[in-house]
Amino acid sequence: MLVEIDQSLTIDPADILRKITPNTRAIIPVHMANVVCDMDAIMQIARDHNLLVIEDACQAVGLTYKGRKVGTIGDAGAYSFNQFKNINVGEGGAIVTNDDQLFARARMYHDIGAVFRGHLDNANAPLIPGINLKASQIQGAMLNVQLKKLGPMLRRMRQRYEAMADILTSRGGLRLIPQHDPANAAGLHVVFDTEEEARDFAARNKRGVHRVYDSSRHVYTFWQPILEQRTVHPKLNPYAWAARPMDYSPKACPRSLDILKRTCRITVGENYPLVFMRYMARRMVKDRGMPLAPYTTNPGLT
Ligand SMILES: *Cc1c(COP(=O)(O)O)cnc(C)c1O
Repeated sequence: MLVEIDQSLTIDPADILRKITPNTRAIIPVHMANVVCDMDAIMQIARDHNLLVIEDACQAVGLTYKGRKVGTIGDAGAYSFNQFKNINVGEGGAIVTNDDQLFARARMYHDIGAVFRGHLDNANAPLIPGINLKASQIQGAMLNVQLKKLGPMLRRMRQRYEAMADILTSRGGLRLIPQHDPANAAGLHVVFDTEEEARDFAARNKRGVHRVYDSSRHVYTFWQPILEQRTVHPKLNPYAWAARPMDYSPKACPRSLDILKRTCRITVGENYPLVFMRYMARRMVKDRGMPLAPYTTNPGLT
């Protein structure tokens, strides 16, 4: 079942409650664009209704929620290391879990030859055949190096987030999306009252700004295979196995569509100097008819 987002751009706990049925088994919160979900509320709902929580932290590798890394709060968490993610090795990913049985099953599933490997001598789960999702040691080595750079990179993101957020809100009168852990916020988004304003803001600031709705692959109405419930073979179609007919109509989440149309993402440019990102924020404010403050470099900041 698709669940609405709220203004934080993450899954709306109130709508989770509305969508729970006797068939519900798990909640899948997605930490999108380095914006973390309301994990306290989600974990509480999961406890109350005896549900699993599978965190999709693919777009927020390294981010924290109240001192804990996202992906490690629920029963299992997924990370992606494809070319668009915080750390990347072209393709690949990882899952984390504290559940020994789940770990054993994930290990068998990701490696078609797992049943022949010595590490399964003490398996915590019955043997199952897997498919092949293995990463190589070379990929692992490349990721290991990036792991050391992840902390500093996130610090640069947060620094730019804070500097730009200050200019955008106090000088530009713009409204940021609410954050569930404001002290660690790194995903910068502004929300407008109307979709026209958001479209206009994105059009006037082509560099580093885009309206979230316009990145169509992130909007469920563009997920044609899911809306049409199509799979590789009709007999392997999980929708047909559901306890009741599933409906993934484009109308399923009207509030989410409205929010996505009114929200713009702003890149925090962690590889650009902080002064440049401040300048970019001031330009965005100027484009809204506000006076442009003089561009001064501040040698004390990097
Ligand atoms: C990238 C991404 C995935 C999938 O990652 P792959 O490594 O490409 O399979 C899943 N969920 C979200 C939110 C993503 O951004």
